Parts: sequence; structure tokens; C-alpha cells
Amino acid sequence: MDQKDLGHKLFHTITFGCQMNLNDSERLAGQLRTIGYEATENIDQADVILLNTCCVRESAEKKIYGKIGEMKRLKSVNPNIIIGVVGCMAQKDKDKIVKKFPHVSLVMGTHNTHQLVELISQIETSGEKVVSVWDQAEQLAPDVPTVHKSQISAWVPIMYGCNNFCTYCIVPYVRGRERSRPLENIIAEIRQLGAEGFKEITLLGQNVNSYGKDLDTQIDFADLLQAADQIETIARIRYMTSHPRDMNTKLIDIIKNSNRICEHFHLPVQSGSNSILKQMNRGYTTEYYRQLVTHIRKSIPGASITTDLIVGFPGETEEQFLETLDFIKSVRYDVAYTFLYSQRSGTPAAQYEGQLPLAVKKARLNQLMAVQNEISLEINKQLTGTIIEVLVEGASKNDAMKLMGRTRTNKIVLWEKTGTEKIGDLVNIQIDKAQTWVLKGRLL
Ligand code: SAM
Ligand code: SF4
Repeated sequence: MDQKDLGHKLFHTITFGCQMNLNDSERLAGQLRTIGYEATENIDQADVILLNTCCVRESAEKKIYGKIGEMKRLKSVNPNIIIGVVGCMAQKDKDKIVKKFPHVSLVMGTHNTHQLVELISQIETSGEKVVSVWDQAEQLAPDVPTVHKSQISAWVPIMYGCNNFCTYCIVPYVRGRERSRPLENIIAEIRQLGAEGFKEITLLGQNVNSYGKDLDTQIDFADLLQAADQIETIARIRYMTSHPRDMNTKLIDIIKNSNRICEHFHLPVQSGSNSILKQMNRGYTTEYYRQLVTHIRKSIPGASITTDLIVGFPGETEEQFLETLDFIKSVRYDVAYTFLYSQRSGTPAAQYEGQLPLAVKKARLNQLMAVQNEISLEINKQLTGTIIEVLVEGASKNDAMKLMGRTRTNKIVLWEKTGTEKIGDLVNIQIDKAQTWVLKGRLL
């Protein structure tokens, strides 16, 4: 008997984009649960389908528009189905979505996600389309229930929005200004997660280092980390994303002296050229960034450092690209997430002269990835023969006989299941083989 036969109303979410969006989808699910909906993997059975969207790059946007179009088929089979487009693209393109896709019944912006129950009930009662997209968030949205996808690892949003206005980025326009959650609410949520058996939390924000600046108190991100570090039921604390401009030696020292904060620094550098960084409005130089890396490596030997890089920013010359290449060769990141610059209308960089042809951007991306992959592999190979603490997350995606977990440095580890380890356990794995993206080993 399936869920439909049990009389449940069913929902299906499709999430695009970053961790923030994945967490938003958990909060959408939490709200739908309160009015009797259950999740289904089978889209054909769903009464409500929510597409939680991303518009950071054009490639994501194109894919999502294709997906919204595909939903028409389901509406023609079941005219009562509620198809919703929510999140960043709904915020940016509400009029276009309404006009182009009559089968969409709900368009809900990033500042309205806490209204889901009210909006769905309205559509169920009236049968009419609903568009709810506030231009900006006047205040912090109320907390809503969450259904966590994982049983051991949970995201905890600490702030919403971004004030940085990097010249290439659409996020501040679709997510609004920074709004921090009160420290007490965050700590209460982490305690509750610990009581429910979660072992790992990730504090989420576009720029976590700005946490608290908009609050009436003197509390900052360092205070929040120190408070979270006292919660004994949680084994590991992560956070993302840190802005290099606001990362400092004081914070690195707090992390070094903590009990639970993982030795992983994700510090998006974006470019290795000072003039490009200036045009990006990133607010730091490569020299400052190098000092941070030196301090991290000196204070916390074995810490991993990862980054984001954009190639083909408008006007980027071959020399400036080579500066980025040299930069990654000297910093030696564990992992770099590399992106082709994508022109986002409404951002300053979209108007800059010297937009580069796609072929040039792709060639640079390939060169960058080849260099980085080699570095990642070399760094991982140094771990062969070592014993590493791993948090067991679940079955490997590709092989049911293998388990998957992560090191404190956020590296993925696979090993042959023995039957003694349970999801959520911290186990010791002897690393036998290193690849670019994964480590393989055996349980000790
Ligand atoms: N707030 C985070 C930060 O400052 O690093 C990251 C947020 S953003 C969603 C994630 C990454 O997307 C950025 O670090 C950047 O590398 C990339 N990104 C943002 N806008 C982009 C654009 N227009 N084209 C290509 N990549 C972009
Ligand atoms: Fe975008 Fe920059 Fe804000 Fe990150 S810090 S979300 S890259 S504007």
C-alpha cells in the first residue's frame, strides 16, 4: 500500500542551487507536514510540486525554465495539482513565470517562504493562482518547522541575505539585506538537534562572518561559534560561507582552541589577480588572503582549505588568468569549485566592457580544473596509510556494499561495510587509496 492509498496528500520538491536552498526546501517540507502533507519521491503521485530555484548562473536558470515547462504534462493529467515555483528565480522573474507558464499555481519569493501553509490553503480553497513576492524583507522571517533530510547532519541558518554586492553576484538582489537570527534561537535549535541525535551541524549564511552586525547586541560570529562549541551532544560544527575579507586571525585561533569546530576552511577567493578582485568588489588582496592561509596552516596543521573561483570575469586578460593559475598552484587548495563567469542582468559586472566569449572562458576553466585536480590528488595521496576519524553518513551512492562518511576536513571516504558501524558513528578508517574527490579505506 502506498502513501496515496493511506489517504495522505503528497508533495514533491525539486531543489536547485546551494546549501541555503537545500535547507529552505527542508523548511518548506516542515511547513507542509503541519497541514497533513507527506513527501513522495514519485512526482506523478504528488498533489503539490515545488521547484525551489536558483539564479546565480544562467546555466541553472535555463535548466529550471526547462523543468517548469515539463510540469505542464502533470497539470494536464491532474488539473488539481499545485505546481509552485519558489525561491531566487521566483523572486527575480515573477512576472515572466506567471506569463509564460499558466500551469504554475504558486509563485513565492525568498522573503515569503514562511507563508507556504497560508498560500497553499488559499489555492486549495479558491482554486486560483497565488503570487506572493515581497520586494524586500522588512524584518527577520519567523522560524518554521523543518524536516531534515539527513538523520545525523543538519543545516542551521544563522542569517539571511547579503550586504556585500560583489559586482558579479545576483544574491543580494534576490535574498535582500543581512538579517541575523537571535543567538538564543540558534543555540536552542542546536541543542534540540543534539537531543534528537544529530551529530553534526553546519551554520549557514552567505557571509557568516557578518553574523550579528544587524543585531542590537554586541554579539558576533566568534561569540556564536564559542556558544555552539559548548553543546556537548554535537560532535562536529561546520559553517559556510566565510568571506576572506572578514576572516581574521582571532577567529582562526578560536577555531583552533575549540572542541568541535572542524578543521576545514572554505574561503572563496574568486580570482588570483588583485585588479580583478578590485573590480569584483571583494574587499581583500591576494596578499591579505595569503596571510590568512599561512596563519591557518601554522596554527592548525592538517586543516583543509577549499575555495570558489570564477574564470572569465569581464576584461580578464590572459595574464590575469595566469595570475589565478599561479595563485592556486602556490596556495594548494584541497578542493576548488570553479565557475564560468555568468552575466547576471541587474549586477554591475553585467554592464562592464570586455565580456569574454564562451570558448575563451571554457578553455580557461578546463586549464584551471586540470591544474587543481592534480593538486587535489597530490594532497589526498599524502593521506594514504593514515588513520582518519570519519562520521558515518550512509550507503555509498554507487555501491550498496560500501559506506560513505566524511573526515573533519570534509573529505569523502568510502569503505566496505562491515556491519558493526552505524549511521552517525564516529569510526576510524585506514586510508588505502586516494583519488581526486574521494579517499578509500577500511574500518579499523
Ligand atoms: N556567499 C558566498 C561567497 O561569498 O563566497 C557564496 C555564494 S554564491 C551562491 C556561490 C559561488 O557562486 C560564489 O562563491 C561564486 O564563485 C559563484 N558565483 C556567484 N555569482 C556568479 C556569477 N555571476 N558567475 C559565476 N559564478 C558566480
Ligand atoms: Fe554573492 Fe558576494 Fe554576497 Fe557571496 S558575498 S553572496 S558572492 S555578493
